[in-house]
Amino acid sequence: MTDIAPVDDGSKLCVACGICCDGILFSSVTITDPSEAERVRALRIPVHVVDERHFFDQPCSALGDNGCSIYTERPLLCHAYRCLLLKQVDAGTMPLANALRIVEAARRREVEIRALMNQDVATDGTPLVQLYRQFQLDNHDRLDAPESRELIKRFEHHQAELAEHFEPSMIKA
Ligand code: SF4
Ligand code: SF4
Repeated sequence: MTDIAPVDDGSKLCVACGICCDGILFSSVTITDPSEAERVRALRIPVHVVDERHFFDQPCSALGDNGCSIYTERPLLCHAYRCLLLKQVDAGTMPLANALRIVEAARRREVEIRALMNQDVATDGTPLVQLYRQFQLDNHDRLDAPESRELIKRFEHHQAELAEHFEPSMIKA
């Protein structure tokens, strides 16, 4: 008998995923409790306040190469958050391998759409949803052009897939 706790499939999924931390799923995280906002600041995550809304940006500054660098002390919201995919894996209704393929597909779409905007996730961490809003502003008179239509089609498909597999209430562009 070992005293090392087994790593369940849900934990394996989150370690391999992280898209609720890196800006793919959310562009910011709202903190509703002011005392929690102070705790998050103390963890050296910059907290912004706009119109009395406390939030921190994504990609999260606490996200490192091996996942959350403050995992045991992470904000309560992070601790509580469970996307649809994780719930399915934990419930045994989605095999881990299938869930990992869904994560990979989301990352692939993200890279492809950024490439259409001439943006590289390695050099620009701005969340895609913000880049897309800027694209719409910059190209308001060219949205009917074939290349714009292709980008719009792919972005909307990506958002729909994220909503279906991860977060139905995610912010739409
Ligand atoms: S998006 Fe879901 S599966 Fe991915 S890290 Fe967040 S909770 Fe885990
Ligand atoms: S604090 Fe950790 S779990 Fe929360 S968003 Fe940042 S990296 Fe993710």
